[in-house]
This record gives sequence, structure tokens and C-alpha cells, in this order.
Amino acid sequence: MLNSGSSSVKYRLMSGNERLASGTIERIGEPGSPAADHETALKIVATELAEKGLGLDSPELVAIGHRVVHGGTTFTEPTLITEEVVRKVQELIPLAPLHNPANLAGIEVARRLRPDLPQVAVFDTAFHSTISPAAATYAIDREVAGRLRIRRYGFHGTSHAYVSREAALAVGRPAGNVIVLHLGNGASASAVSAGRCLDTSMGMTPLEGLVMGTRSGDLDPAVVLYLARTGGMSLDEIDTLLNRRGGMLGLCGDNDMRAVQERLADGDPDAELAFSVYCHRLRKYVGAYYAVLGTVDVIAFTGGVGENSPLVRLTALAGLEALGIAVDPGRNARGERLISTDDAAVKVAVIPTDEELEIARQTLEVISRTNRG
Ligand code: AMP
Repeated sequence: MLNSGSSSVKYRLMSGNERLASGTIERIGEPGSPAADHETALKIVATELAEKGLGLDSPELVAIGHRVVHGGTTFTEPTLITEEVVRKVQELIPLAPLHNPANLAGIEVARRLRPDLPQVAVFDTAFHSTISPAAATYAIDREVAGRLRIRRYGFHGTSHAYVSREAALAVGRPAGNVIVLHLGNGASASAVSAGRCLDTSMGMTPLEGLVMGTRSGDLDPAVVLYLARTGGMSLDEIDTLLNRRGGMLGLCGDNDMRAVQERLADGDPDAELAFSVYCHRLRKYVGAYYAVLGTVDVIAFTGGVGENSPLVRLTALAGLEALGIAVDPGRNARGERLISTDDAAVKVAVIPTDEELEIARQTLEVISRTNRG
């Protein structure tokens, strides 16, 4: 599978659930990088695979799965790539101007290298296509929203799909209700019932929702107007302030949770405020999605922060015993798969995400469906 981003290409070669090879080509186009563009990056991928005896020309290769960030309302499931699919992904570029062109660059090069091979697009937004109109619609003029395709789409879909399924299986409730907290550099929450997403915290763009490494998450939309009118900032400056200099970075100068926690241990007041804003927002979403779902079988933490920070997990869920949520401090500190107390009605799980495996699985599903059809 290929994850062709704006400045990097990640690849993983899978046979069933087994990883045969993987790697990342970084800083594409930057001075000193081995790859000046995506074409060169993919050729490096091909060479790296060939060196391991697993070349792109191998007859055993059955398909290539591509991560595509924005599928809009056009793509609600993984899709076999054709000329028409490429054209439709191009039409969605205004909704994801940084990501979709990079994803398309990877698709184009891979199709040129192996035109005979089925290639599948797996969309970040697709898992969230099941959210109801009530959850997807912003309360603004419907004509404007419709014309400009403004609605909640949600992102990190492959991670939410993978983690919600694994968490439900981990507690023996495959058709259960799950709250997924994907906490990485970007962060998002989702409410999932019987494998269907009912609501998610990222919106039309990946800026909405939780506090992230460098993104503000939720904010009074009038702040944007105020920054422009009274603060005299340009739209590009506001974009940078909210997307690149917001979140933990904006609050305390560090976007890495490890650094924030080290400062916290030294009693640094900026780190304390940043950490408390982060955990307060998380807790609000847990409460909101509890109400959306009605009952909750399991809350699943994932992503770099969710998988590795016992302090975030403990703080975000502290004092929620009345809701049936209680974290066992020992299990939590050890990062066990289930970290709730035995008698808690709502289980709490730590589930390492695996977006690459999920993309490979979904790709194979499309291929076997196509072959059957
Ligand atoms: P991801 O985007 O899922 O790769 O997550 C990356 C983020 O995970 C980093 O920026 C860190 O903030 C966070 N992280 C990684 N390891 C730890 C850790 N041991 N404790 C707290 N946060 C961590």
C-alpha cells in the first residue's frame, strides 16, 4: 500500500496480515532529499523493494492500495481506480488542496509503473460517510453550504475503522458501541455503533474538534472574523495561526506531548494549562459521544499520544465513575490492552492503530469483490 503525502511517501508490502517490507521516503522536494518529486520517490520505493527481492514487477503482487485523504460525498467506500475515479478525485482537490494532489501524484506514478495491476483508493473520509444529516450539517444557509460542499466529512477514517473493530472484538462485543479517541499529531474522536460511524469530531477540514499538536480544534468561528477585522491578520496568517501554530504548540511552545509532560513534571505553568485544555476537550467529547451512543461498551485510545501516555488517559477519564468509566491505574501505567477496572461497565482499551494494514485489507476486499463480480 502507498501513502503518498505532500512531503513523504510511505509504503508497506503485505502478504495477508504479514508485513514483508516497509519504508518511508521523506522530505520530498526539499534540499538534500533523495527525491525531488513523487515520481523519483516512487522509483526509490521500487528500487528498495527490488533490493529485497520483492520488486514492483513481481507477478505475486496482486494490487496496490492508495490512501486518499478526501473522498467528499462521492466516495463512501474503497474504490477500484479508473480514469473516471482519478477525475473525480481531482474534482475534490478544492476540499483538500494539500493532500489530494499528493495522493493523486502517487496514483499516477504507480499506474504508470504497473498499468496492468488493479489499484484501489482507500479514502480517509469514507468511514464517516454513515453519520446522519443531523451530525453532518452545519447550521448555516443551506444554499451556500450545498453550493460549496460545506459539511462534516471527518478524517482518520481508516484508523477509526480499524480501532473501533479491534476494540469491539477485544471486549467480546463485535456489534457494540465504541468511542474511539485517535490522539496523534492530529487528533479526532468518533462514536461508532455496530461498525457504523455515528459522529466524528473533525469536520469539513481536519481543523475541527480536539486540541492537536499544532491545530486549535474547536473555536468560536467569530474568532476568525475578529482576527481579520480587529487583529488585521490576512486569511493566510489566520490559517497558519490555527493550523500550524495552534494547539499544544500555540499554548505552550511544544507540540510533542512527551516534552509537554516533562515540563509538567517540573511544574511549568504553560505546560500545565496546555495539558489541562487538551484533557478537558477530550473529556467533553467523551461525554458528547456517550450521549450520541446512549450506551458505551468500550472507549479506545490510539495514536502516538493515546497509545503511549498513561497520564492523558487517566486525566481525561478521571472522575467519570458515575458513567461506569473507571481506569485501573496499574493496568494503565503498564499500557495493557484493557485498562479499565474489572467492575467498570464501560471498558477502556489501548489499541495500537494500523492504518496500513487496514488499507491493505480494504484493498484486498475490493479486489476479491471485483473478481467475484
Ligand atoms: P502519531 O501522529 O500518531 O504518530 O503521534 C505522534 C505524537 O505522539 C508525537 O508528536 C507525540 O506527541 C506523541 N507521543 C509519542 N510517544 C509518546 C509518549 N511516550 N508519551 C506521550 N506522547 C507521545
